[in-house]
Amino acid sequence: MDRPVEVVDYPFTSPPASGEAVEIQDGLLWMRVGLPMRPSHLNIYAFDEGDSWTIVDTGMNVKSVRAEWQALLVGPLAAKPVGRVILTHYHPDHVGLVGWFQKEHGAELWCTQATWLFARMLTLDVQTEYTKETIAFWKAAGMDEDILAERQSSKPFCFADVVYPMPLGYRRIYDSETVSIGDKQWTVRMGQGHAPDQATFWGVDHDLVLAADQVLPRITPNLGVYATEPEADSVGAWIKSCKHLREFARANQLALPGHQMPFTGLDARLDQLVVIQTDALEELLEYLAEPRRASDCFDVLYGRRIGKSEYGLALVEAVGHLNHLHQTGRVTRSKNEDGAWLWKAVGD
Ligand SMILES: [Zn+2]
Ligand SMILES: [Zn+2]
Repeated sequence: MDRPVEVVDYPFTSPPASGEAVEIQDGLLWMRVGLPMRPSHLNIYAFDEGDSWTIVDTGMNVKSVRAEWQALLVGPLAAKPVGRVILTHYHPDHVGLVGWFQKEHGAELWCTQATWLFARMLTLDVQTEYTKETIAFWKAAGMDEDILAERQSSKPFCFADVVYPMPLGYRRIYDSETVSIGDKQWTVRMGQGHAPDQATFWGVDHDLVLAADQVLPRITPNLGVYATEPEADSVGAWIKSCKHLREFARANQLALPGHQMPFTGLDARLDQLVVIQTDALEELLEYLAEPRRASDCFDVLYGRRIGKSEYGLALVEAVGHLNHLHQTGRVTRSKNEDGAWLWKAVGD
């Protein structure tokens, strides 16, 4: 969901060009690599460890991104090797080149246990056709028949298509643990809803926050539900995390997100995000005065036409909202004869 009103400030006026870095402060570089989708770039942060770099997140394992990395490795990062990768969460735009850094550069990997298990499981889970559980999940969400037919007749997206194989071995990071990155101390705080146990890092004695995709300045993170856990209340989990993280947020912190621009006003942004999603739930509830499928809810949730490229993400997020309303007792659901859930507000 897009938000027109901005409650944050952007201390940096323009992002780094491909292959270049912006120095956020002494020993901390901000770089970007491209993505074949919206948002169009992933932010990479590099911390000077003296004799090596720690980098946060990596981009997808596709030719263009590997070329961008080659330029970074002989450019702004040339002085020393990448010794450690911190992975904020398992999504392919973040994990894609982790295995490459481990295998080809000898870097160690630090991430949460859920991140590592999801990333490695999905990378190994190569499918030649969509599983029957995934098809049933999409039918239950009321996926458009043409889109479903097109997907069923094409090769499924596999993690391994865009994620380099991950070797065994990582260093687990724990919620509330203090870790050292660069010359600074950080507290790990996990967020839920966008990805399980997504790691964010909060300055212990400084005002930097590595916000990952948990908090983005201009869009709400996707809160999708998948066939792996069809009943997940992703929206409820994410709102709960936002409220928890809000306790540690201050206006003057510089938030370094996974996408878009670094920003200040993290406290106001967290408040705003909760309001945006809470309002969306209320509007959706009104719309459910009549029984609807998840796929009927795009207009009310997104307020704009959803194109084919966004359809999948829009659908899984609509399920997240409906699951939340269902599990908090505000809607009931029944299976239609075509296998789709019909969701309806309780009462009246
Ligand atoms: Zn993500
Ligand atoms: Zn991301």
